[in-house]
Amino acid sequence: MTLIAIIVFAVVLGTGAFATWQVVENRLAADLVNSAAEAAGKTVQDIERGSADDVVLPVTRINRIQVVANDGRVVAASPAMKGKPPITRMLPPPGGTRVDGTPCVSFSASERTCYVAVGLRADHTVHGDVMVYAATPEPQSLRSNFLEITLALFSSALLALLGWGTWHLAGRTLAPVERIRAEMAEITASDLSRRMPVSDSEDEMAQLTGTINATLERLERAVENQRRFASDASHELRTPLTGLRTKLELAISDPGAEDPLATMRSVLADAERLQVLIEDLLLLARLDAGVRGPPELVDLAELVTSEVENHQARHEVLLKLDPGVMVRGSRLQLGRLLANLLANADRHAVSEVRVQVGSLRGEAVMEITDDGLGIPAGERERVFQRFTRLDSARSRDAGGTGLGLPIARDIAMAHRGRLYAADSTTGRGARFVLHLPLSTAFRP
Ligand code: ADP
Repeated sequence: MTLIAIIVFAVVLGTGAFATWQVVENRLAADLVNSAAEAAGKTVQDIERGSADDVVLPVTRINRIQVVANDGRVVAASPAMKGKPPITRMLPPPGGTRVDGTPCVSFSASERTCYVAVGLRADHTVHGDVMVYAATPEPQSLRSNFLEITLALFSSALLALLGWGTWHLAGRTLAPVERIRAEMAEITASDLSRRMPVSDSEDEMAQLTGTINATLERLERAVENQRRFASDASHELRTPLTGLRTKLELAISDPGAEDPLATMRSVLADAERLQVLIEDLLLLARLDAGVRGPPELVDLAELVTSEVENHQARHEVLLKLDPGVMVRGSRLQLGRLLANLLANADRHAVSEVRVQVGSLRGEAVMEITDDGLGIPAGERERVFQRFTRLDSARSRDAGGTGLGLPIARDIAMAHRGRLYAADSTTGRGARFVLHLPLSTAFRP
């Protein structure tokens, strides 16, 4: 298909070249005829003025002039035509004074020349009634179409060759891309752990396969994370559900064995735990999908105050809040972030929780610290992974889902901020630090 297109293109261009050359030639022929007419006209003026001398060549491109009497004698001529028979005997049509033509003459046996000629009638001159012919040898190119045809064929052939070469080269250049495409199609359809072979060269193809491999790596990790998350989530849901079912089965099979109110309370606790878990999972899914609340200006100090008021804390909460630290974002989500950190701090504190709000280098900074056991330095990143519980039995009993910190970090990141666990400034307890862009620097 492509080859046919190349050939058609080449033929069209060849025809174009042919037509262009013809236009050029027609123009050349017209120029020669005009010059001949001009030269003949000047000579007619000369002989009408009475000059019977040899013809003086006027300043034109024409170098052959003959004055031919009615009987065919050449009565005057330019130097090159002296002593030669008339170039032509063509005559103007009846009533006309000018005749154009391309006569051919043989002045010798071996030589035959064609001319671009113009003849003008001049009556009653010193030579009597005469015809003045001005002529120039016809250029070879005007005589045949050989040049046009050669040019057309040559340009067609050259273009076809050029097209074929480009097509061939493009095919060879794109072959590795096609190989990569086929391999990618196979990998995505079958096994994400497979990688593309990377050549030793440092060309673009090697860079492309390197980038594709890195993308596959990330994709595989994301799929693996999703898989693990789904399995962890099912496991987390199954535990309270199994407990709930066992308690109900026991109560039905042996109604007198347990206090019905105690059973109902225990079942309700399981149901509540299930509800908390499902709500957390839903929130995470929404954060993963990039669902945000409507953005609004949030005063961090004011947000902390209202969260602390609504939060039933076991321990004293000490506040050190700079006023006017404004951030832009979802008040609901930022409130949830704060509530998670406050609940954790309160759960792990021995006697007090501290919350501090301020700003530093264009960022809002909030710190939540407690005086509990703290988090070992080596575990401070792991606690942000989903379903991670360092003190599993304790936090499970206390209703922890292992999703509080991952949710808090996802919210921070959705607000272009960062949340991390840092060294405690007092040497004991946990310290969580949140950075958010100040509302003036925030560009959603
Ligand atoms: P959970 O629902 O278990 O609290 P989180 O994601 O909120 O889940 O926390 C993950 C784990 O991080 C907790 O189980 C706990 O072991 C640890 N952790 C969180 N906050 C604190 C804290 N203030 N002090 C000590 N450990 C903490």
